[in-house]
Amino acid sequence: MYQISLITGDGIGPEISHSVLQVLNAVNDKLGVKVKVTELEAGDISLKKTGKALPEYVLDTVKKSNACLKAPVGESAADVIIVLRRYLDLYANIRPAKSYPNMPSLKDNIDMIIVRENTEDLYTGMEFDVGDTSIALRTISKKASERIAKYAFLTAQQRNKQKKVTCVHKANVMRKTDGLFSRTCQEVSETYPGIKFEQMYVDACSMNLIRQPESFDVIVTTNLFGDILSDEAAQVVGGLGMAPAANIGDNFALFEPVHGAAFDIAGKQAANPSSFILSTKMMFEWLGMKNNDKRCCQAAQKIEDAVYGIVKEGIKTKDIGGSKTTSEFTQQVVSRII
Ligand code: ATP
Repeated sequence: MYQISLITGDGIGPEISHSVLQVLNAVNDKLGVKVKVTELEAGDISLKKTGKALPEYVLDTVKKSNACLKAPVGESAADVIIVLRRYLDLYANIRPAKSYPNMPSLKDNIDMIIVRENTEDLYTGMEFDVGDTSIALRTISKKASERIAKYAFLTAQQRNKQKKVTCVHKANVMRKTDGLFSRTCQEVSETYPGIKFEQMYVDACSMNLIRQPESFDVIVTTNLFGDILSDEAAQVVGGLGMAPAANIGDNFALFEPVHGAAFDIAGKQAANPSSFILSTKMMFEWLGMKNNDKRCCQAAQKIEDAVYGIVKEGIKTKDIGGSKTTSEFTQQVVSRII
């Protein structure tokens, strides 16, 4: 039995959490992977009710579970996800971008994974004012660069695709910080002779993601660049509604859509639940690898096949050119998990 904590979030969060709950029930009932789900509130809704965006009991429940699924939260996002990432040491942010059929994708053979360092860079919150100037501190360490580089090479090895890692940085300008990141990735690459290694400046990478997205396999990069490039990559394959993500540490992992709470479409049954459903697929993949549990890997494959099959038949939500509501789309996914 896997204990899964589910943070239901704000905006479209509760709607897409409901979709994920139905998928989890189908996996439990039809595929024999037993899951017990604990629903939790964090974010704006919790702030309003309890005065805390991430109450202690939520953190404790997440910590005790086998994995966490987190829907997007609103204005208080930084007080939830950044704390969870830091507290649980979820140092690797994994964002796949893959072409699905019938999608407004730039090319139909895109299959890349962005491995983003998740703990440092400009996102540590070290900002202060000196007179009328505001200053932010950027931290890049050898230790964090090394572990994210190793994670990227292991990912490339397991994927069995092009077996290529592209290290993205701006070391020609940020010579100290990105210089260290680039050198460390280079050093790690020497211990993986079977995997091609290339380096690319972030501006060139953002251009190449549009010009030749199919040329990428695994991209490894720092926190801020990874945040921006992964949104771009999501758009290149058809939009945020299809973009899942994972935050992975040595002992725990949290899975969430790339997008935010999308308040503009909340409560309208207009959300595409695929981003969160595909995040759930990533969770089963991770549980399967961690626990050497083949049934979890099969569940992951079935979930992805269901989404793939549906969009291939042209059954889509509005954001990707279809007319199905969130519930109708979810029903289609659930009916294919057998
Ligand atoms: P954040 O800063 O938290 O990432 P944001 O303000 O950049 O959030 P998102 O909430 O990520 O914006 O979404 C941007 C827009 O994309 C939304 O306004 C919405 O129209 C669309 N969108 C995002 N996610 C989905 C989804 N799952 N289904 C349909 N449309 C979506």
